[in-house]
Amino acid sequence: MGLFASRRTVFVDSDILVIGGGFSGCGATYESRYWGRDLKVVVVEKANIERSGAVAQGLYAINCYMGMQWDENQPEDHVRYARNDLMGLVREDLGYDIARHVDSSVHMFEEWGLPIMKDEETGRYQREGKWQIMIHGESYKPIIAEAARKAATEVYNRIMVTHLLMDKTRPNRVSGAVGFSVRNGNFYVFRAKAVIVAAGGASHIFKPHSVGEGMGRTWYAPWSSASAYALPIQVGAKMTQMENRIVLTRFKDGYGPVGAYFLHLKTYTENVNGEEYESTWYDDTKALVGDYIDRHPVPTCLRNHAILKEVAAGRGPIRMVTKEAFQDPHKEQVGWENFLGMTVGQVVVWASQNIDPKYTNPELTTSEPYVMGSHATCSGAWASGPEDYAPPEYRWGYNRMMTVDGLFGAGDASGGTPHKFSSGSFTEGRIAGKAAVNYMNDLGEDHQVDEAEIRRLGEEVYQPLNNYAVGRNEIVAGTVSPSYILPIHALQRLEKIMDEYCGGISANYMTNEPLLTRGFELMDMLKEDSDHIGAEDLHQLQRTWEFKHRLLASESVMHHTLFRTETRWPGYYYRGDHMKLDDENWHCFTLSQYDVETGKWNMEKAPVYHIVD
Ligand SMILES: Cc1cc2nc3c(=O)[nH]c(=O)nc-3n(C[C@H](O)[C@H](O)[C@H](O)COP(=O)(O)OP(=O)(O)OC[C@H]3O[C@@H](n4cnc5c(N)ncnc54)[C@H](O)[C@@H]3O)c2cc1C
Repeated sequence: MGLFASRRTVFVDSDILVIGGGFSGCGATYESRYWGRDLKVVVVEKANIERSGAVAQGLYAINCYMGMQWDENQPEDHVRYARNDLMGLVREDLGYDIARHVDSSVHMFEEWGLPIMKDEETGRYQREGKWQIMIHGESYKPIIAEAARKAATEVYNRIMVTHLLMDKTRPNRVSGAVGFSVRNGNFYVFRAKAVIVAAGGASHIFKPHSVGEGMGRTWYAPWSSASAYALPIQVGAKMTQMENRIVLTRFKDGYGPVGAYFLHLKTYTENVNGEEYESTWYDDTKALVGDYIDRHPVPTCLRNHAILKEVAAGRGPIRMVTKEAFQDPHKEQVGWENFLGMTVGQVVVWASQNIDPKYTNPELTTSEPYVMGSHATCSGAWASGPEDYAPPEYRWGYNRMMTVDGLFGAGDASGGTPHKFSSGSFTEGRIAGKAAVNYMNDLGEDHQVDEAEIRRLGEEVYQPLNNYAVGRNEIVAGTVSPSYILPIHALQRLEKIMDEYCGGISANYMTNEPLLTRGFELMDMLKEDSDHIGAEDLHQLQRTWEFKHRLLASESVMHHTLFRTETRWPGYYYRGDHMKLDDENWHCFTLSQYDVETGKWNMEKAPVYHIVD
């Protein structure tokens, strides 16, 4: 510590601490204030909530809106839809809970100033698809952040949370979190009676298509660094469905979204010969997954599967047929605006590659895998369900409380509930916020943080700076040191292991038990080396802790992938030694629990209850 003597330790007390000021964090903050008028609600965010999280750049559609006021859909319909898309495995209690409240969140967004497009004939929100409504959403995040800022007692921006704190006397109760300022290096100790983890999903777990200086070009935000998983895992919270990584079909190189193109512009895909190809693979897919291929809409993973098969058969690339739709000036405008509101990079890529979709059908590709819980995938923490709807086995405490007392999760952090997207994540944050207030009111007696643990963590957090400061003296030039590795080197090793051994792009999404076993061996070596990461400055220190969070989440993904001996989601990944879906043995959730003392993972199954017909 002597090397960095000017660093201060700042203590912040709160009733409710929200970690991550993205969509679910803003929802949690807003609702905590609503139910807890006099409570101290603190938000801690590693960027700035004004433009942080996956919605930083804006969105063009809200992907989860029932439209109950016009009887467009009911919550049960959404549960059926999500269940179908995830090949039968979702927490129906949690999904129903979000669906019944999500419309009210969207109505608040509009009240707060979000422009939502209207159908001129009906006056209703303009639908892009059955669940999506179209918005002018460049400022979506600042609008939602403003509501959270006004609701919060304090917002701490630019603080990266590295660890949760546990209560000194009750081993399974959370009592806060620690982290550091990425601006001035101060050590922050947040003492809290209830904690809501809302820190988003995980990119850069698997090696991305774009590497080197292009590595920031990923589909999920490059700053989504798996903290939402690592923080609860470190303190022994059970995780679920971590093997259920997602692979996206997107416009090549820019990851521009295809939803508006399929749903609103009615464009379609074809192989290199201009042929429809999905039907070619019908029998093949049916042999793997049975009747799931006959469901409507066809599950997302199975549509990827057809693309992968067609490309492997030598009939790639797959292209989106835009030339027809773009002859209509209205559709052409929508096609471009769709990107300008949320993925400007796609426009830049097309411009730089001489692609005008009016004259050239652009290529699609399948992305590297991502770990998240709010899209067509449902990795995350195993959470207690709503009291009026959850079966007893899914209910051990307050709504959205993890298996650690006082620790709540929402958005990408919370498992078993796909297809919540921005509005559903915000809504789940609201649900978690209300429950955290109830928890506090019922059980919020004074908690005790452990001073010795805080000191220990204070040293651990900054150790990479010390590693660098000392190890740097052993070399006179260059960056290769005998004593430390840099965070980027560690990250690239992790991505390579996950890519080659756990079903990434280089392996055509294929893995098996021997590959995973070897992957674990390599990961153990990486874990040893990760104690010797050297961080040159605070920026590199943040990269180090982001890597460490990704490492722990990746380990979890590997354990889950090994445990589930079937291929449940072809097109997301394949267990080559168990190529078929096996409903008899695996129509269940996978759960893991990490023991920080022993470093061991315990795996178990949990039943899937179908509550909705
Ligand atoms: C490319 C893309 C397109 C999408 N398109 C749509 C769409 O069209 N419509 C739609 O409705 N939804 C869309 N979504 C989904 C939506 O963005 C997510 O579902 C939603 O943002 C998830 O909310 P969250 O709170 O879990 O995560 P986020 O909103 O990502 O928030 C996580 C927050 O935690 C912070 N954080 C992370 N780690 C730490 C740490 N250690 N310490 C402190 N803070 C931390 C992050 O900086 C961030 O602010 C899209 C997402 C992506 C990536």
